[in-house]
Amino acid sequence: MQDDSRPNRRSFLGAAAATLGASAVLASYARAQSSETIHKGTMDHSASNPGPVNKALLGENGSSNNPPDTDHGDVNPFWYSFDLAHRRIQEGGWTRQVTQKELPDSKDLAGVNMRLTAGSYRELHWHTANEWAYMLYGSARVTVLNPDGTIAIDDVGVGDLWVAPAGYPHSIQGLGPDGCEFLLVFDQGTFSEYQTFLLSEWVAHTPTELLLKNMGISREAAAKFPKEEEYIFPGTIPGAVEDDRRVVGGKAVESKISYVFSMRSMKANFEDAGGSVRIVDSRNFGASTAVAAGLVVLKPGAIREMHWHPNAAEWQYWLAGSGRMTVFASSAKARTMDFHANDVGFVPAVAGHMIENTGTEDVVFLEMFKSSVFSDISLNQWIRRLPPQMVMEHLHLEQSEIRKIPQESSPVLPR
Ligand code: MN
Ligand code: MN
Repeated sequence: MQDDSRPNRRSFLGAAAATLGASAVLASYARAQSSETIHKGTMDHSASNPGPVNKALLGENGSSNNPPDTDHGDVNPFWYSFDLAHRRIQEGGWTRQVTQKELPDSKDLAGVNMRLTAGSYRELHWHTANEWAYMLYGSARVTVLNPDGTIAIDDVGVGDLWVAPAGYPHSIQGLGPDGCEFLLVFDQGTFSEYQTFLLSEWVAHTPTELLLKNMGISREAAAKFPKEEEYIFPGTIPGAVEDDRRVVGGKAVESKISYVFSMRSMKANFEDAGGSVRIVDSRNFGASTAVAAGLVVLKPGAIREMHWHPNAAEWQYWLAGSGRMTVFASSAKARTMDFHANDVGFVPAVAGHMIENTGTEDVVFLEMFKSSVFSDISLNQWIRRLPPQMVMEHLHLEQSEIRKIPQESSPVLPR
């Protein structure tokens, strides 16, 4: 039970953040923490921290500094932020990545965050991993060539997805008025944007005589090929997508497979007062056979229920808001960490977890899995499917209490 005479940490922080500077917020945060007695020892001298402090990091992750009493043991890293990653800036945009180097347990998935200014290209390329992408800002033209010679040419906007299968050559170009920024997810933890197959590098590393025989072009033309990688570089904003489709050969060469999907604007699979969940996998987006994804919105105070995924590890990208996630990693190991926009979270396969919106605005995050289908198990639903006697003898709950537990999976609570 909450004692109403105590300041509520969430409302206290929200009000403080709105009116005070960063250092004042930190001071009030410490007071609010101690008034809630989150951890034995925070009330007395045991939690004092007289040595040097990185105040900015401490303010970002209070749950590491003053963990809940229930946290225990050494859980491997499950938080990183694109805002800590090296940003490779070139004329035309930039890129940065969070891979298995940053999150050692993330063997299945890695992520890249990329910006292209209007007209600029992510150079024509392909790679060994499957690519799954979500548009964060602006719009882009995406092309994917199929082995049968047909090509998909599409424009994607905010909240849209695209995929490029492993080995299929593809391109991304920023459109007007201000290009785009997007998230790329690859189904290889060790993936690196520095190790893709680039058109420019192949022609630069092929003997000219062979290029002439292969392409039938003149020696003068071949001499103009780039001598090193282009990777990200400025270009011309293209015209209408229909014109591009027509000029390459129209319907006759048009891909029968769609590699794009509107995720943000689709009808929610689940929606209640606490938020919503949208799920995209191979069942509603046929081309997405490598990665399944959920887009979750949590209202302030709401939680993503206690659950786990039987088929895959989870790789998260936070688009908005502030929250905390607790990961239960078996053997009595559990850790709670705080997350903010542009952070990456990771949950090992089958590990229990829950997420709470601790801020004053909506939390929006993507959860991705190396799987053709999304699958999760709800702790509540499991408990309610069991004979009550079995639950009573495990959790020492009265029948009347068991009946209060939601009977069906409710990915976002409260209803
Ligand atoms: Mn790619
Ligand atoms: Mn999950």
